[in-house]
Amino acid sequence: MAQAQIIDGKVHAERVRAEVAVQVARLKADYRLQPGLAVVLVGDDPASQIYVRSKGEHSLAVGMHSVTHRLPDTTSQHDLMRLVGELNADPAIHGILVQLPLPKGLDEKAVLAAINPDKDVDGLHVLNAGRLVSGLPALVPCTPLGAMILLRETLGDLTGKRAVVVGRSVLVGKPVAQLLLAADCTVTIAHSRTVDLPAVCREADILVAAVGRPRMIRGDWIKPGAAVIDVGINRVPFDDPVKAAAGRTKVVGDVHFKEACQVAGWITPVPGGVGLMTVAVLLQNTVTAAMRQAGITT
Ligand code: NDP
Repeated sequence: MAQAQIIDGKVHAERVRAEVAVQVARLKADYRLQPGLAVVLVGDDPASQIYVRSKGEHSLAVGMHSVTHRLPDTTSQHDLMRLVGELNADPAIHGILVQLPLPKGLDEKAVLAAINPDKDVDGLHVLNAGRLVSGLPALVPCTPLGAMILLRETLGDLTGKRAVVVGRSVLVGKPVAQLLLAADCTVTIAHSRTVDLPAVCREADILVAAVGRPRMIRGDWIKPGAAVIDVGINRVPFDDPVKAAAGRTKVVGDVHFKEACQVAGWITPVPGGVGLMTVAVLLQNTVTAAMRQAGITT
């Protein structure tokens, strides 16, 4: 039976990071400009701590100025907003990322709205969302942009392809749909109220799953030969009952990988696919932000 080709996120993320390192070196040499990234973590969520550490390490590795602010979960809205204001005004910082989710009691929307849109390397400020929809230069959320890089590198020109995005969040579903539309795909956005989701998915040449439900998308939902991009990150017990009984868990995507491999033309694994692109694109966005702030166009 046919086996899908694996889209290896590690290879693509390494290439993006290597390109970023070259750009950083050039900006330092030619313009005395060192792109700077500030990451803000409030509280001690274990997953967020891992993501934040990875962002700090990777930004240093490509030669950027990198600052991580770790704040206690007792931090007030006022203090968090004041820090964002200081980072907005800091000329050494070109990108600001506030790690989400914030602890209960803090107003995420207000914090995101307070970030200078030109430094909004997570692409979550409404101005950047609006610029993306309007076809204007925008800072685009990292995971959707990472998914698009994988698709373009794998398929080349996407013109005319039928794309189905399952999920309509501001963080993933909506921006990825906008990027596919901008690439001249014919785009359907599906969600929890979509009628006959399997039939909708079967129309897709490109199927993007951003649902947050482990292995929901089955093999018989996939058009033979389709490119499947699995954004989902779900922690589930091991299939092996002994490991499961010991409380051990593993990460799986929103797509039933084994079944999908028998039908799809290409597929991203979880882990090892889209997730690895997120930090690489964050670095790329920081370089983009630094260049725009300095008025450098090439
Ligand atoms: P959200 O929970 O914000 O959105 C989930 C979307 O899926 C919603 O639009 C929801 O529909 C839809 N949905 C839920 N259940 C169903 C269903 N049964 N049938 C069809 N649609 C359904 O999640 P995110 O977009 O933030 O994240 C999606 C996944 O991607 C998660 O697993 C997350 O962990 C992962 N992720 C991975 C990242 C990375 O790789 N670095 C970054 C960000 C997210 P409705 O709107 O109708 O409720």
